[in-house]
Amino acid sequence: MPVPSDTQTHHDQHGRYPEAVTVEDFRRNLLEVQARIEAACHRAGRDPAAVRLLPVSKTKPETSLRMAHAAGCRMLGENKVQEAYRKWESMQDLTDLQWSVIGHLQTNKAKLVARFAAEFQALDSLRVAEALDRRLQVEGRSLEVFVQVNTSGEASKYGLAPEGVPDFIQALPSFSALRVRGLMTLALFSGEVERVRQCFVLLRTLRDRLRQSAPVGIGLEELSMGMSGDFEIAIEEGATVVRVGQAIFGARALPDSHYWPSEAPGNSHD
Ligand SMILES: *Cc1c(COP(=O)(O)O)cnc(C)c1O
Repeated sequence: MPVPSDTQTHHDQHGRYPEAVTVEDFRRNLLEVQARIEAACHRAGRDPAAVRLLPVSKTKPETSLRMAHAAGCRMLGENKVQEAYRKWESMQDLTDLQWSVIGHLQTNKAKLVARFAAEFQALDSLRVAEALDRRLQVEGRSLEVFVQVNTSGEASKYGLAPEGVPDFIQALPSFSALRVRGLMTLALFSGEVERVRQCFVLLRTLRDRLRQSAPVGIGLEELSMGMSGDFEIAIEEGATVVRVGQAIFGARALPDSHYWPSEAPGNSHD
């Protein structure tokens, strides 16, 4: 059993994940990921039941999503709202399937999220909070939310700068349809384990500090951090949700730069 300091990233190994094409493939991949989660928990002295696996189905076709559901997945993560909405519309027969939107949202698409999503993990502006809350009130729904923090300092990553998070959290109680659960981040894409780990450490220490002064009703229990290439490190640093796509569904055709724009998006603009 390796010790935490030996844990490696797998960002350079995406190609090794073959496409899952049968329900049996999904079952096997889910078991493998779960075993990796348990091993990481074991190294860190944590209870595996405290880590939720969120399968990420972005770019994959409906047939794959249906196989994932048949293999036991009951919530799927998507990073583009319109793609998620389209999939939700065509899979309404799966009444026990829930949707988590994990990518940046523009205010003009808040009404779509308010209509179908159970969870939104990329809250990073008061304008989006306001738009979501207004639409949720209309729909008579509520939404679990995570505040996205930019822990890598890369201009290309969405999320609030860490120093902006305390004031942001204080403003959230005005949005009564938003059920705030915790913080979310994307670490640096790097094979340098220690630099990746620092991103996760930053999110956890920020959460620990904020928890002492969080307004009533604002939960900060959850830390959503870690993906196929780095979720073991995230678990060692306290992740309670890991968002895993390729290790379950198979590699995506396009490189990650396609999903996260390389030009600076700014922190809170649409
Ligand atoms: C795609 C995506 C993931 C999952 O990445 P994989 O490499 O497929 O595991 C996690 N989080 C976010 C925000 C994503 O967009």
